Order: sequence, then C-alpha cells, then structure tokens
Amino acid sequence: AKADGKGAFRRFDPALESRVQARRSLEADLRRAIVLQEFELHYQPLVDARSGRITAAEALVRWRHPERGLISPADFIPLAEETGLIGPLGQWVLRTACAQAARWPARIRVAVNLSPVQFRDLRLAETVKAALAASGLAADRLELEITEGVLLADEERTLATLTRLRAAGVGISMDDFGTGYSSLSYLRRFPFDKIKVDQSFVRQLPGDAESATIVRAIITLGTCLGMTITVEGVETAEQFAFTAASGCDQVQGYHVSRPLPVAEFLSFVDAHEAA
Ligand code: C2E
Ligand code: CA
Ligand code: CA
Ligand code: CA
Repeated sequence: AKADGKGAFRRFDPALESRVQARRSLEADLRRAIVLQEFELHYQPLVDARSGRITAAEALVRWRHPERGLISPADFIPLAEETGLIGPLGQWVLRTACAQAARWPARIRVAVNLSPVQFRDLRLAETVKAALAASGLAADRLELEITEGVLLADEERTLATLTRLRAAGVGISMDDFGTGYSSLSYLRRFPFDKIKVDQSFVRQLPGDAESATIVRAIITLGTCLGMTITVEGVETAEQFAFTAASGCDQVQGYHVSRPLPVAEFLSFVDAHEAA
C-alpha cells in the first residue's frame, strides 16, 4: 500500500493499475499514430438495389499498428473520443476520404462516419467544406453518417451544423437506424436525406417474421419521407434478395464485398462493372 497526503492508505490494485497502464500506453500510441499517420481507410461498396451498380462506398478507418497489426475502429475510436484525439483523427479521415474519392468515377459517392464528439466543434461545417475544397470533390459526392449520439448532445448546435452542411450540398445519413431510443422524432427534426437500417434487423432475415416486418416498415416510412434507404449488414444471397424485393434503394454488406483497401476497392469496381 502507498501513503497518500493525509496519512491514510490506499490499497494498491494491480489489476486496476495494469488496466490504467494499458490504456495510457494505448493513448500514447494513438497520439503517435496520428502524427505518423498510421491509419488507413478501407472502402465498402454500396450497390443500387435495382441496377446492382456501385453507387457509393463507406470509408472505414483502420489503424496499422507497428507491433499489433491492423486494429479495428471498435478498439480505438472510443479512446480517441474520450481523449479528444478524434478531432485530428476525424479530420484526417475526412481529408483522406475526400482526396481519394476525388479520383474515382464521378458516379461513386463517399460516405464518412462522424463521431458525436466532432459535433462539439463549432467549426465542423467549415472543416468539412475545407476538406472538399482541398480535394476538389464536389459536395454532392460526400455523405456524412451520424448516429443518434450526435443528436442527443446539443440539439440546437447540431441542427445548425447539419443545416449548414445540407446547404453546402453535402448528404446527411442517419446511421444504425432503429437501434436508439428516439429515432422517429429525429427524422422529423433533422435534415436527413438517407437512412441506414441497422444490421441487427438484417441478421435474422429472411426467416424471422418480426425482423422482416420491421425492415419493410422502415423502408416504407423512409421512402414516404422522401429519403434514400440503405440496408446494411447484408451477408447472404437470401438477405440480398429479400431486401432488394422490399424496395430499399441501396444494399451494403459482406454479400457484395467486405471493406477493401482503396486500390482493391477500385479493382473491385472495375471487375463489378465488367461482369
Ligand atoms: P458502422 O458505421 O455501422 O459501420 C459498419 C460496420 O459493419 C463496419 O465495421 C463494417 O465493416 C461492418 N460490416 C459491413 N458489412 C457487414 C456484414 O455484412 N456483416 C457484418 N457482420 N458486419 C458488416 P468496422 O469497419 O469494424 O467499423 C465499426 C464501427 O466503427 C463503425 O460502424 C463506425 O461506428 C466506427 N467507425 C469506423 N470508421 C470510422 C471513422 O472513420 N470515424 C468514426 N467516428 N467512426 C468510425
Ligand atoms: Ca456508418
Ligand atoms: Ca451502421
Ligand atoms: Ca455501428
């Protein structure tokens, strides 16, 4: 045990100590990774449900750690959010995605995920516009994906930022739709042009009647509100056939392709178009 200032004793908890240490070392690694740009973006195609053509790709960040190899975003985005490092990381993601997409065929848009923490920055709309200007990417080729967490934070400020982005011509998608608490009221209050149906509803398709009904209902609702509907997490041919037949606009998932490094993504686009 170690003495604190007042002479009382705190118990030394080795398990806690090593957790704290592991976190500190990951944080230090993350800081360094941002400076050294150890990140890369993988792109997962979104296909038009009717024509089957690739119309967009979602940028998904990976960390190529020098010792640990490729680390998934689930393992470092939360830490980046807690430490504020999501600011510079998010900016790198935006700039890189815009710069890469600017070289793709013009009919392919790019979708970028934004963290709720990035919305605390009043300059977010300007940051997005700067990334577009620097890359030469047309604003209508960029879609920003946000989750309910963004909307929960500061409604006025978020609405102002989203309105400015929409006015600039950028698309706004509601990600993971159906998993939160107040998704329906958000559809009314915020200027979305796209809904992404969460993968959890797709897992049990087409066999599960409840899931099938929910997916169909979300597609009908979104379509009536004039929004584009993407169904995510489509893994099988049966799920693909079901979602396409349900009238959704776009399909995304392993059945079409896993997220790919940019060069492989472009080869996939070529092969897909040729097929
Ligand atoms: P998300 O935005 O919901 O992204 C979709 C996730 O589902 C991706 O995981 C993708 O690889 C995975 N996925 C796609 N199709 C399928 C499928 O058919 N089956 C299954 N089981 N999974 C599928 P990933 O790349 O590990 O990303 C996880 C989450 O990390 C993302 O969820 C997003 O919330 C976050 N994320 C990723 N990149 C970024 C980023 O650049 N910025 C921020 N703020 N968050 C990011
Ligand atoms: Ca997403
Ligand atoms: Ca999602
Ligand atoms: Ca998610």
